[in-house]
Amino acid sequence: MKKWAKNPWVLGIGTTVIGGVLLSLLLDWIQGIDWLSTFKNVMRFIFNGVVSFLNFEIKVWWLLIAIAIIVVGLFVVAKISGSQSNNIPPTFLQYTKDYMLGYSWEWTYSKMYDGKYTISNLHPVCTKCGMRLKQGGLYGTEMECLRCNTTQNWEDSVEYDAQLLIEDNIRKNYSQNQ
Ligand SMILES: [Zn+2]
Repeated sequence: MKKWAKNPWVLGIGTTVIGGVLLSLLLDWIQGIDWLSTFKNVMRFIFNGVVSFLNFEIKVWWLLIAIAIIVVGLFVVAKISGSQSNNIPPTFLQYTKDYMLGYSWEWTYSKMYDGKYTISNLHPVCTKCGMRLKQGGLYGTEMECLRCNTTQNWEDSVEYDAQLLIEDNIRKNYSQNQ
């Protein structure tokens, strides 16, 4: 750079002049553009795009296929999530007999609408032969085995107590949430 060019005065004035020229050129260019019509064109472009999208010709069978795909997809998802939670039977389902409160008990399990199991068909059986006991006696206060011809005192509340004990055994001896 020549010596005069390093002079701060020359530098300052030069920068100002060049900057001013560039700025005025830029302003002229901006003013030269027809902003209003450009804006209108952009808006028209967007508007036309929206209108043509909304007027898009939809075939009914496209809709039917789309609905079918959604339905099948939902069905598959429900099947997969359902089989994951229901495929493995809980281990306590093998626990169907026990001796408690002076009686031998047998029972089954019923699956509820929510997928949980409940004890059903709970009844006392003969401790000797395993036959289901028959409620008898004057006021139903006895249980008798028709094969062994034995009788045993009975109270109806015993069955409910047995169910509570079974439920508690399941809770304590088998995995939870089942
Ligand atoms: Zn018996």
